[in-house]
Amino acid sequence: MSAPNKSYDPVEVEALKPEEIERMRDEALAAFAAAGDLDALAHAKTAHTGGTSPLALANREIGALPPQAKAAAGKLVGQARGVVSKALATRQAELEAERDARVLVEEAVDVTLPYDRVPAGARHPLTTLMERVADVFVSMGYEVAEGPEVEAEWFNFDALNFVPDHPARQMQDTFFVQGTTPEGTATTGDESGVVLRTHTSPVQARTLIDREPPVYVVCPGRVYRTDELDATHTPVFHQIELLAVDEGLTMADLKGTLDHMVQALFGADMKTRLRPNFFPFTEPSAEMDMLCYVCRGESVGNPDRPCRTCGSEGWIELGGCGMVNPKVLIACGVDPEKYSGFAFGFGIERMLMFRHNVEDMRDMVEGDVRFTRPFGMEI
Ligand SMILES: [Zn+2]
Repeated sequence: MSAPNKSYDPVEVEALKPEEIERMRDEALAAFAAAGDLDALAHAKTAHTGGTSPLALANREIGALPPQAKAAAGKLVGQARGVVSKALATRQAELEAERDARVLVEEAVDVTLPYDRVPAGARHPLTTLMERVADVFVSMGYEVAEGPEVEAEWFNFDALNFVPDHPARQMQDTFFVQGTTPEGTATTGDESGVVLRTHTSPVQARTLIDREPPVYVVCPGRVYRTDELDATHTPVFHQIELLAVDEGLTMADLKGTLDHMVQALFGADMKTRLRPNFFPFTEPSAEMDMLCYVCRGESVGNPDRPCRTCGSEGWIELGGCGMVNPKVLIACGVDPEKYSGFAFGFGIERMLMFRHNVEDMRDMVEGDVRFTRPFGMEI
């Protein structure tokens, strides 16, 4: 073994002097401690532990040392590098914990803040109310039936026992699409004109022709009359019509059905009354009133408690009803000796007006969302 080469003595190599290693180690520790975030620490890591860092260069010097000097120098540098790498890991963990805590605070969601979204629309209250009424009957086993709005005059009038000179057939009430004479009277006999249906009753006739009794249907839909649009009239409005044809149906079944409907829509103790009236397609026919759901009749003869909803009359007129006229049954191929039926119908606009205090019918057709939005999705 040769004598130690003086020029390779560790103390003679500047980078491997113990105080120099100590300085490198302390500089690295100071740099890690000073790193305020993970980016700064990444830079310090490269500078103090990377391939060109002072400690890595010092480590490289060891290889050139004589064998007997390598162990001591290796231990010195190895210890320093161990301390540096442990300090780096500790600081890394500290800064990651700080970042996670900060992210939790910065990205916290305040669920009480008002949100900024496109406001949800609302269904039109006429649609919602019409479906609500239809649902009452569907829950009793009725089916929803629909028919065309552009309707054969025969279905709209003839099948329903409107005589040819009935005033409803005149031009001032009905939109004729085709089939009128120059004088404005409807065609009669085999030629059927075409009208915009003036009521939902033609669906009754279509249903009776289409299927065998028993028939239980509810027919909601849009109807047309030649009215000017004002606070209480509109040329396009909505009706809902009910038809039941079965063996042994009587006015008592009709009355019970009407009572159930108003109770489902207005409350458990509601009731109805019938007043005699005339419609071509029912016999006997009645006007149907329901108890005023606001005052329950208590405003009658009680000036201290007037009721605006019913005009202190105690009752609200709702619609027309009656037993299906045997002539209608015959026209639709149903044997009136075997079957009887009842029908009734009313206007949805009118019910919306008194049920929700809508004072002007024009609000319902002008499409202003400020009118429809408060109704939301359910009424
Ligand atoms: Zn009242």
